[in-house]
Amino acid sequence: AILFETIEKNFGSLKVLKGITGEINRGEVIAVIGSSGCGKSTLLRCFNRLETIDNGRLVINGINVSRPTVDYSQLRQLRTQVGMVFQQFNLFPHLSVLENMTLAPRKVLGKTPKESAQLAGLYLEKVGLFDKASSYPEQLSGGQKQRVAIARSLCMNPQIMLFDEPTSALDPELVGEVLQVMQQLAAEGMTMVIVTHEMQFAREVANRVIFLDKGVVAEQGLASEVLSNPQSDRLRIFLSRLN
Ligand code: ATP
Ligand code: MG
Repeated sequence: AILFETIEKNFGSLKVLKGITGEINRGEVIAVIGSSGCGKSTLLRCFNRLETIDNGRLVINGINVSRPTVDYSQLRQLRTQVGMVFQQFNLFPHLSVLENMTLAPRKVLGKTPKESAQLAGLYLEKVGLFDKASSYPEQLSGGQKQRVAIARSLCMNPQIMLFDEPTSALDPELVGEVLQVMQQLAAEGMTMVIVTHEMQFAREVANRVIFLDKGVVAEQGLASEVLSNPQSDRLRIFLSRLN
């Protein structure tokens, strides 16, 4: 679970998160929506401590990361427990799919090459790419790259998965295969926080939606309610622009 209480984040004089409060419970799927620059990626990056917060309280899986200094072993623990998938895949281009997937389990979790390869095989199978183990990222389509990125994260056995616009860089015809993998993950009970512009997907898969506007939570609630019956003009306008 993630607990956050009036968290604030500034970049110099720019106030990006201005007191955000909420919680993400085990097994929940949360969609974070909002217009460009409102702080969605920043919030997500705080959730695995790629960014530190300036004020407020943030507890991730029982680890309090509110303070600027966190013990190194806790940080390591946090990074394995919280997986992240980015818009641009971030696969290592010079490594094969299998090498991409076994690197962190070997280096961070201390798994043997054999153990980590078995694990990679399992997750490649899960995302339908078992036959691509020895391919290199440049030989894959965008949708395949993103499915490898998801499978790579899963190899660390995370308890929470963060997705930052995982389908925004994909050609429209490749979006579905990635959303399908995510939907399956959600159905299996993974805790997920997803920044997305795919409102249909959010409606179908997310339990709750958080609408960020100018660094605050402008609206939040059940996905079905928030997306079908927005209370604020800002959200109404935001949703109508997507269609
Ligand atoms: P988008 O939908 O375009 O991805 P976003 O909601 O994810 O937008 P963020 O990336 O969180 O927005 O950025 C929020 C604000 O913080 C923006 O004004 C951005 O320019 C600024 N910002 C983000 N990261 C940094 C940084 N490392 N240094 C300075 N400013 C930053
Ligand atoms: Mg962003």
